[in-house]
Amino acid sequence: MQSLRFPERDLHKIRRDESHHRAALACRRGHVMSIYLMVDARVDPEQKCTQCGAGVVTGCPNCGLRVRGEYYAAGVIGFSSNYELPGFCDECGSAFPWATREQRIYELENILDQQEMAEHDRLFIAERLRELHSMDGSDRKAQANLWKRIRSYGPAFATHAAVRRIAEGLGVEGAGSAIFG
Ligand SMILES: [Zn+2]
Ligand SMILES: [Zn+2]
Repeated sequence: MQSLRFPERDLHKIRRDESHHRAALACRRGHVMSIYLMVDARVDPEQKCTQCGAGVVTGCPNCGLRVRGEYYAAGVIGFSSNYELPGFCDECGSAFPWATREQRIYELENILDQQEMAEHDRLFIAERLRELHSMDGSDRKAQANLWKRIRSYGPAFATHAAVRRIAEGLGVEGAGSAIFG
């Protein structure tokens, strides 16, 4: 049995019974198995999904943080029940195995929106991300060439740690390297 790693920022809230997110457990395909796990929960990392037989995901593939579960509002009885399984880790931004190609590209666009850069460079990269969206990822060479153009216009964006991990997950060759070239 394995314990779950909650974010540091939530641990003191949990001790004082303040509002925070519980943890979730889902299979690699994104079938939700639990969304109310508490900090003292112990889960079996070997268990399989009862819907599809896939292995279970107990945390982020990159940093090991728990999958964000339902929001627990202190002093309120019951949960809001509009829960949606997150596609990305709320600590490091890595994609969970169930995140679709579309969700991963949306996340790249979200990160791009938060970057400090010249507006014309941002526009250029946004256009390239739309091109990436229209590809299915099977043409490795076209994807790699597109990424090179993104890198040349936005080196800070392309070498951002979360961006590199997402691009790698999309199968962009060489995207994982922090070295610009
Ligand atoms: Zn499943
Ligand atoms: Zn993470």
